[in-house]
Amino acid sequence: MPSARTLRTPADLVGAGIVAPERVAELERVAARYAVAITPAMAAALDGSEAVARQFTPDAAELVQAPEERADPIGDEAYSPLEGIVHRYPDRVLLKANHACAVYCRFCFRREMVGPDGVRPLSPAQLDAAMAYIAGDPAIWEVIVTGGDPLILSPRRITDVMARLAAIEHVKVVRFHTRVPAVDPGRITAKLVDALKAPGKTTWVALHANHPDELTADAADACGRILDAGIPMVSQTVLLKGVNDDAATLEALMRRFVELRIKPYYLHHADLAPGTAHFRTTIAEGQALMRALRGKVSGLCQPAYVLDIPGGHGKAPIGPCYVGDGEVTDPNGGRHAYPPR
Ligand code: SF4
Repeated sequence: MPSARTLRTPADLVGAGIVAPERVAELERVAARYAVAITPAMAAALDGSEAVARQFTPDAAELVQAPEERADPIGDEAYSPLEGIVHRYPDRVLLKANHACAVYCRFCFRREMVGPDGVRPLSPAQLDAAMAYIAGDPAIWEVIVTGGDPLILSPRRITDVMARLAAIEHVKVVRFHTRVPAVDPGRITAKLVDALKAPGKTTWVALHANHPDELTADAADACGRILDAGIPMVSQTVLLKGVNDDAATLEALMRRFVELRIKPYYLHHADLAPGTAHFRTTIAEGQALMRALRGKVSGLCQPAYVLDIPGGHGKAPIGPCYVGDGEVTDPNGGRHAYPPR
């Protein structure tokens, strides 16, 4: 029986039949460290989908921290000149407007920062300071609104953020990163979609989804409401062991994105977030999956496979590479001299 409300405790998960009662004590230890939330849409989707269940159901493996794992795996802190801003590349900034999410993903790269009880949303003074920072640097062309998940903010709050950005002449593009259209599609109302737009600015929405089972009919409708309003969408996916680390699943996911008018953008190698080793593949495995994808689907369905280099050194495409010394590899693995001899 699907739940009518977001499940937030191990007891809720037992009540919904998602975990066995004997696991409660174990999961309480996980929940004491990392936030838990499963929306009604995802509680319904995980029924019969191990891939969805694995992304949102806490697991004792999260309490095991590998030596290479770190609280700030992609090094945001080193590039944060003030609360709510990450400025790693000259032409764009992250604006972390809030730190709560609709769901809490068990592999989250910001898991030490997000949660209902964690860092609070930006205060009015902090938001003023963040906007002043953006306004003060004419090189900032794009603002990436992230969190947490910015689409759990009310339309009124989003309208306020957009109105402030609209007043900054050099900001041309605003990109929202979110899981909401898939995990809580009812939240994508006409009012919220309207709030995403501002005169003179181009809005993009990047949808985070990792398995086709997340892209339900309701999710498709929610994305349709965004797209029909003239807001283009791209996807981002995290490569996750036991969720999407097989060629058929990745192919189905990328095809589904394109069918929904969402351009596959990034396939992220899973970051070194604490307690997430059970989700990580090797880079070689990721490259093999990308080769399989290249051989099967059109360029439209191809994301870039990327790694956020620990320490804040930015995002690097991590292949595979098809060009060698005097030769190029075709999508089926055949090697050819180039230029032809
Ligand atoms: S929605 Fe994004 S920020 Fe929130 S828990 Fe999931 S991955 Fe982390």
